[in-house]
Amino acid sequence: MSKKSSVCVTFDFDAISLWLARKMDTPGPVSRGEFGAHAIPRILRALDARGIPSTFFIPGHTAETYRAQCLDIARAGHELALHGYCHEPVSTLDENAERVVVRRSADILAAISGKDVLGHRTPSFDFTKSTIRIIQELGCEYDSSLMGTDYTPYFARSGDLSNRDSAYAFGTASDVIEVPVSWTLDDYPHLEFVRSPAFTMSGLKSVNDMFESFYQDVLYMTEREPGGVCTLTFHPQVIGRGGRMLALETFLDRIAELPIEFVTCLDAARSARQRLAKDPLHSAV
Ligand SMILES: [Zn+2]
Repeated sequence: MSKKSSVCVTFDFDAISLWLARKMDTPGPVSRGEFGAHAIPRILRALDARGIPSTFFIPGHTAETYRAQCLDIARAGHELALHGYCHEPVSTLDENAERVVVRRSADILAAISGKDVLGHRTPSFDFTKSTIRIIQELGCEYDSSLMGTDYTPYFARSGDLSNRDSAYAFGTASDVIEVPVSWTLDDYPHLEFVRSPAFTMSGLKSVNDMFESFYQDVLYMTEREPGGVCTLTFHPQVIGRGGRMLALETFLDRIAELPIEFVTCLDAARSARQRLAKDPLHSAV
């Protein structure tokens, strides 16, 4: 009997925080963030119609600005998880500042969901040598920001040492499960156009080409590595446009025909932890 694979359909509800983090705080970019909140009801409808549980990674700033939408997400049964306060690139913070951001945001999300927050994703998949320690202190069960594998959650390490003059020294496995992501499975670089004094992102690719690429990655997992986990990252302000929503719905219906189940990142992490406990030889990358 072939093992069922899992797909985590996740949303980074960055809203206005993303633009403020880039110091783009004039009404134009702010309105692009506002659109993320505008798109939440249609995303929730699409998920509800298909019975798909999801994880929403929400900056504390979004949770305080759009509390009603975050309550709707929680009431619909989706998981709320950490994503910075104002989408800070964590590598610009010292350890204590990163800890303050994570703890403050955890309190905000817990007050909305009424539950402890157990998952974490860094803004822009940025990461520091302290990140795992900080979220472990908080009691997080998993992180979803690293790219060490594609379909295989693993125990995230801490204590790595890098030196360009000698072999890389891997640290030790923590008890935080990493539910891996990839820029290739993220709508933002495929679709979003950004021009700022600091950088330009061309985006605006074909949404159908993007979903065909996503589909091939899910297909490979089901055919060659069944039992795996494939994590997709969407942004309400990117995927929430009308034509893109139709493409998202078509994609979700298409992969639902494959031998997969839709799970939250927390459920994927918990299943992985059980598997890894039985198979400690494969507990590290
Ligand atoms: Zn984000």
